[in-house]
Amino acid sequence: MPTPNDRVVVVGAGVSGLAIARELAPDHDVIVLDKGGVAADTSSRASGMISLSLEPFPEEWASFALSQFRDLNGRGVFSFTERETVRLVPEANADLYTDQAPDGGEFLTRSQLERRYPDSFGDLSAYGGGLVYCGTGFLDALDYAMTLKWAAERDGAEIFRDHEVTDVRVEDGTVTGVETEYGPIDADYVVYATGWKTRDLLAEYVELPVRPLRWNAVVIEPDDPLPDDCPMGSEPTMRIYWRPTAHGNVLVGGNEHLLDDPEDAPMGVQPSFRERAVEDVAPLLDGVAAGTVRREDCCPTADCASPDGLPIIDAPEEAPDGLAVVTGLHGRGVMLSPVAGRAVRSLVTGEDSPFPMTQFRLDRFDDRSADFEYRSHWGAGEDESMS
Ligand SMILES: Cc1cc2nc3c(=O)[nH]c(=O)nc-3n(C[C@H](O)[C@H](O)[C@H](O)COP(=O)(O)OP(=O)(O)OC[C@H]3O[C@@H](n4cnc5c(N)ncnc54)[C@H](O)[C@@H]3O)c2cc1C
Repeated sequence: MPTPNDRVVVVGAGVSGLAIARELAPDHDVIVLDKGGVAADTSSRASGMISLSLEPFPEEWASFALSQFRDLNGRGVFSFTERETVRLVPEANADLYTDQAPDGGEFLTRSQLERRYPDSFGDLSAYGGGLVYCGTGFLDALDYAMTLKWAAERDGAEIFRDHEVTDVRVEDGTVTGVETEYGPIDADYVVYATGWKTRDLLAEYVELPVRPLRWNAVVIEPDDPLPDDCPMGSEPTMRIYWRPTAHGNVLVGGNEHLLDDPEDAPMGVQPSFRERAVEDVAPLLDGVAAGTVRREDCCPTADCASPDGLPIIDAPEEAPDGLAVVTGLHGRGVMLSPVAGRAVRSLVTGEDSPFPMTQFRLDRFDDRSADFEYRSHWGAGEDESMS
């Protein structure tokens, strides 16, 4: 097991790799290598929704991540805006929630919702009400990544862009470093935080059941800026979410789907998603129906999904000693990045983690193939697919 000041090479400077660097930098010699730029792949395109209290995650993950976002707020260029989230409930399902709201949410009828957020909603006539969640908020993913980088560098981490890692160096079953396009780098511990590519990059050492996953997002500028208390929200039948932005616009995201070949996929959003965002989601918010789309984005290389929808954060038994992986973030990698960072710290140092780690282990999967059926985070039965 490494001792403090041992060298850790982190492969990948997305939010996961940067959060790991920040955790380890105070007492390790940390080098982060990325083949492109900082957060230049999936991470900078994230919508920045922090909605852990709605997710099927252990409560300890949510409270740990939230406390980290709160602590970092105001440091570097980072700001975390706390905002309630409303999950709309179609009229036909409202009876399900009147007595008991799931997962710590509070059910409000349509008229109660309209009273609580008097200037936010538009036409809610199709909805019986909504589930309101606290402990949620939003951030700018690129600002967040740059702040993690800043914090890690202040503690001594070195972060290099345009450094592709081509292999892991292993001797007698133990990691000794990495090979890069510029030559070898020695390390006592190597962590791959390379998103959907991790499966292929480590195929020689460990089989990881993950598949590339894609999301779409557009930013719409309303006629008038959204009110300051406009909640974030989601519409489960359409599998679409929205959040206000710092500039008074609304970011609408969704239409997650698996991709066979991310690198050949176009960057533009799917026309059906754009249409739905403009025609069906914008009218739900006051003054947004006649808004103008200002940004359309779809990450070309996507995130990746695991069979059970939870990440893999592990130093797998079958892998060489000293090799850890963080992958399968399933569209939740920004909100889970503080958890990923601390979990890797615990793997590297042997320290106890403040939350359960068993759900991260690779050996929870008997079948490691990538030929699994996608499991969406959205509730079953509320599905209305979009092609
Ligand atoms: C449109 C969209 C909206 C999203 N919205 C949200 C949201 O609201 N909330 C949320 O929590 N998550 C969201 N996500 C998901 C989130 O963006 C990802 O889960 C997260 O960015 C994954 O981060 P990562 O660091 O693990 O991977 P990545 O960001 O993919 O980083 C991996 C890095 O590894 C580098 N790399 C790969 N191979 C090599 C190599 N051989 N050598 C060196 N470097 C290498 C890549 O260049 C890349 O920078 C969204 C994603 C998208 C696309």
